[in-house]
Amino acid sequence: MSKLEIKKYGDGVLRKKNVPVESITAEIKKLAADMLETMYDAPGVGLAAPQVGVSLRICVIDVSSEKNSPLVMINPEITGGESKILAEEGCLSFPGMYENVKRFEKVSAEYTDLNGKKKKIDADGFLAKAVQHEIDHLDAKLFIDYLPDWKRKTVEKEIKRRKKAGDW
Ligand code: ZN
Repeated sequence: MSKLEIKKYGDGVLRKKNVPVESITAEIKKLAADMLETMYDAPGVGLAAPQVGVSLRICVIDVSSEKNSPLVMINPEITGGESKILAEEGCLSFPGMYENVKRFEKVSAEYTDLNGKKKKIDADGFLAKAVQHEIDHLDAKLFIDYLPDWKRKTVEKEIKRRKKAGDW
């Protein structure tokens, strides 16, 4: 396994279209393993392929405190959601930044696992938030897109300042 470079906001790959994975090859399995290693090392609870510069619909999540419940989702889609909740979240592509985002409290999704099996997941709480955040990445959507204009401008200003300071 090897650690991958995490792309920060401003890198065009985060806004590029991500294509479905057609077959689960050795390369895809290696990518998933490398993404998990990169996520655990960061440390983070979720990582999507575009965040490591790969424009494929694959993401990894582990919200367990023991870091022993990796979830690899290939070609995931949200299939349902209920009741919205406002909660703080961060993103490995926005180091040190946390914002309140409104998302479904409970969510259902379908995906293919690393064995090529179709799976369904019903998630709530922290996992529901992570599933929605990571699938958004696969649609080139970022958590700051949910913020009101004035708030997003503040975030972008802060990033500009950090870039200038060599801290981005
Ligand atoms: Zn993210």
